[in-house]
Amino acid sequence: MPYDTQPVASHFIDGEYVEDTAGEISEVIYPATGEVIAKVHAATPAIVDKALAAAERAQKEWAAMSGTERGRVLRRAADIMRERNHDLSVLETYDTGKPMSETTIADATSGADALEYFGGLAASLTGEHIPLAGGDFVYTRRQALGVCVGIGAWNYPTQIACWKGAPALACGNTMVFKPSEVTPLCALKVAEILIEAGAPNGVYNVVQGMGAVGASLVTDPRVTKVSLTGSVPTGKKVYAAAAAEMKHVTMELGGKSPMIVFDDADIESAISGAINGNFYSTGQVCSNGTRVFVQKGIKEKFLARLAERMGDAVIGDPMEMETTIGPMSSERQLNIVEGYIAKGKEEGARLVKGGNRIEKDGYWIEPTLFADVTDDMTIAREEIFGPVLAVLDFDTEEEVMERANATEFGLAAGVFTQDLTRAHRVVAGFEAGTCYINTYNLAPVEAPFGGVKASGVGRENSKEAINHYSEVKTVYVSMNPCEAPF
Ligand code: NAD
Repeated sequence: MPYDTQPVASHFIDGEYVEDTAGEISEVIYPATGEVIAKVHAATPAIVDKALAAAERAQKEWAAMSGTERGRVLRRAADIMRERNHDLSVLETYDTGKPMSETTIADATSGADALEYFGGLAASLTGEHIPLAGGDFVYTRRQALGVCVGIGAWNYPTQIACWKGAPALACGNTMVFKPSEVTPLCALKVAEILIEAGAPNGVYNVVQGMGAVGASLVTDPRVTKVSLTGSVPTGKKVYAAAAAEMKHVTMELGGKSPMIVFDDADIESAISGAINGNFYSTGQVCSNGTRVFVQKGIKEKFLARLAERMGDAVIGDPMEMETTIGPMSSERQLNIVEGYIAKGKEEGARLVKGGNRIEKDGYWIEPTLFADVTDDMTIAREEIFGPVLAVLDFDTEEEVMERANATEFGLAAGVFTQDLTRAHRVVAGFEAGTCYINTYNLAPVEAPFGGVKASGVGRENSKEAINHYSEVKTVYVSMNPCEAPF
């Protein structure tokens, strides 16, 4: 292994690496080869307690600093992340299997964007002044929530650690972050960098473990807010546990998003959207447009050209920059995807391309294209979280809108058309939190990101995220004598 992927210790608490070998050991596997690249211990109750105690103690000091000072730390952390982008991208590739052609532009860089953006906002987070009759007035104070818990999925370990940490810290909160047990390595680097950039010890902590560790964090009375990126079933459990204690939540969950291609669309552009929305990160993206509705007039042309362009995918060593498709991130996910492909065939979808496991070490599967998919098929209803693109066809706008929205999910949705008014009418009708016109799957830090319906609660990124990591205190000031009826 040319890079040392074994972390100094499993957890990062109160400004330093911490180990507790009593915690259950788990192996970190490089998905491209199946090799064990590191071992970490799950957090014991003592480790969880240590992390929360550090975060609770540090929060007072951190919140007492000016927004300008906090922002400076975050912006310095962004600079360090960018300087180390290459090494962080290599680690992200080892952790997830995603190719370097992606990780060098979408992971540490996206994390750095979040740190820079929220670092820039930190100094401008203010309350307001509300004048009232008789000279009385109200002012509001925008305050930190306290100790926030972040729980991550395995597809974007660096990005998720930063998307949660940056707005939380900008507002004066501290964080205990639990990465996915599948990808435990990258968040440790985020913690290291924040402390190096000047965050006081305890401001950002990382503990490892499975769902049970996450659950113990969620229910701890010291925690005031929980932000989860994960599946809908986990989201329902975590939301319920947080609600029982009246905690704030952000839920970034799964999807089965529609992408509608009308027959007047720029077909190459629409195919690019379908490729970006189904095969980026080997399909392991929550906002993927996995139900591609293509209007009947262009269906066969669309399928033929899409299959042709899929032939240009470079499936291979993720460390090579020309590679565009890496492995699945885990054996478990590979098996899940294979199961869905089998279901697609069984239920009568037409396999146009791919569909097979690639026989080599690691967790490889071909990018797969199904046509003639109908709304009732399993592959059109359930989130697959793999490189499986389902093309459904339609006749009219009215019909496709009803079908596009007929899902419990509501994360994202996209439309490809040259008709300006139709484009805006369609996005207005989408039951989805994040919509795209003539593009797909972008998530710049400046724009709110999140879902409706079962896909989530709250928004990450943009100024919106500030509302989810702070609360407003109202202060009524009387300039007059206080009066009472008796
Ligand atoms: P998952 O739900 O299995 O796990 C997510 C995290 O929750 C992990 O860290 C896990 O250890 C933890 N967890 C599990 N049970 C828990 C419990 N009871 N209490 C607290 N924590 C618990 O999801 P995954 O397989 O890691 O990730 C894939 C899912 O994430 C997909 O559904 C995908 O769509 C979704 N996702 C959503 C977004 C988004 O922004 N909306 C982004 C990436 C991934």
